[in-house]
Amino acid sequence: MARYNGPVCKLCRREGQKLFLKGQKCYTEKCPVERRAYPPGQHGPAQARRRKQSDYAVQLREKQKVKRIYGLHEKQFRNLFERANNIPGITGDNLIVALESRLDNIVFRFGFASSRAAARQLVRHRHVEVNGRIVDVPSFQVSAGDEIAVKPRSKDLLPVQAALEARTRPSLLDWLALDEKARVGRMTRQPTRSDIPLAAQEQLIVELYSK
Ligand code: SF4
Repeated sequence: MARYNGPVCKLCRREGQKLFLKGQKCYTEKCPVERRAYPPGQHGPAQARRRKQSDYAVQLREKQKVKRIYGLHEKQFRNLFERANNIPGITGDNLIVALESRLDNIVFRFGFASSRAAARQLVRHRHVEVNGRIVDVPSFQVSAGDEIAVKPRSKDLLPVQAALEARTRPSLLDWLALDEKARVGRMTRQPTRSDIPLAAQEQLIVELYSK
């Protein structure tokens, strides 16, 4: 499946807000969203001046935003939505919890990688263990009690060291525990929607997919 390899700042500008797709760099670099506050492309400034968006456009943009934050393809995102829809509870909440419990996201949250894209690469390249066994599937769902570690031979990899040293924001979430020196973390409990610092209106995504 082809992955988007273009400039990620364009994706933020398309959504009209900072999605922090470059991880820590977004806190230190000059952000194009602030410098050019209109969508990318020749007609971007005209689009920014356009009047009210339709309900469908608002729902679509919300879905695209969340999908881009977690770096998923449409099919992966849709499948995750279907799974969230088939388990008890509020579908929107289930969806966000499932996204947050992905192994690549958890590796990023621990600070072993500087962005979710870098975390995905770390997992894919077999540097990450779950409960002592290598897992190279970024979509692996982490459960409460699981121990996530950078494998012993990769603990001193420069990107891991640099990411941990640069990890100043955001602070570690209270449902995660980290031994930074040992490069080992644990999900102490399953998060709920209110534990996840994601500014999104997931109800709009549910409405979009329920049409
Ligand atoms: Fe988005 Fe970060 Fe680029 Fe700003 S610097 S546009 S937040 S990826």
